[in-house]
Amino acid sequence: MRKIIVITSGKGGVGKTTTAINIGAAINQFGGDVVVIDANLSTPNVGIHLNSPEVPVNLNHVLSKKAEVFEAVYEHVSGMKIIPSSLSLKELKKIKPEALKNYKKDFAKVADYVIMDSSAGLGNEALAVIDVADEIIIVSNPEIPAITDALKTIKLAQQMKKTVIGVIMTRVRKNDIEIQPEVVREMLEIPIIGMIPEDSIIQEALSMKDAVVHTHPKSKPARAYKEIAARLMGIKYDSNQDKETISDKLSKILKKFKIKKWKTRT
Ligand code: ADP
Ligand code: MG
Repeated sequence: MRKIIVITSGKGGVGKTTTAINIGAAINQFGGDVVVIDANLSTPNVGIHLNSPEVPVNLNHVLSKKAEVFEAVYEHVSGMKIIPSSLSLKELKKIKPEALKNYKKDFAKVADYVIMDSSAGLGNEALAVIDVADEIIIVSNPEIPAITDALKTIKLAQQMKKTVIGVIMTRVRKNDIEIQPEVVREMLEIPIIGMIPEDSIIQEALSMKDAVVHTHPKSKPARAYKEIAARLMGIKYDSNQDKETISDKLSKILKKFKIKKWKTRT
């Protein structure tokens, strides 16, 4: 069955968009048919993260009945599909987020995996996106404010009879000050489906306007996102086998210093 998976959080700025585009990129890399929908209507970021231009038809046009869902689908160079939202405040004023649920069937027709990025919090807009979900993934950081806000979102989603499949802990720094995974599991009472380390490579990918799964496919965060995608797809993926080899590392160093590898004379 095709599923709409909503990526949400209680607190803002925890890593939802990064997570949505990287899960999308990883599913696509594994050969899955995937669309990432920017349902963060007030502060859309997917287009910014993926260097997509301001497009003529976007989700706002669909929600204001000016276009059909299929007309707002674009293809990223990688092959994953994207439905962007408008950056214009004028466009935002014209729509009601509650209209999202009218297009649930049409969203599901776009691809086998529908990943929806959303806004944080418990306002109308965030709730309207949760309402469209078949499954929900919560994104949090290992800090008390993020976790307490995540708990509120989980309870609310459950009250709305939604399945919360788990939490992705991101920006994990592995030190004693942070809340440990066991404590998170106990507090949130849902499984941890992935842990993404804090890594400047993520910001590097953002400045390159692409998913880290594309820019640094063998890095720790990329492999952690691929593990989550494989889990969602029900396929096997061994991240240890996907590590950088010594030859990869050497090539990178040579590239950095602009040294060409020697070719054997034939
Ligand atoms: P949200 O969508 O929840 O507002 P974003 O995905 O836009 O969050 O991420 C917020 C900021 O955190 C961005 O600058 C992003 O590059 C950074 N970030 C996200 N995940 C990581 C990570 N694992 N390591 C380092 N920085 C990260
Ligand atoms: Mg975002």
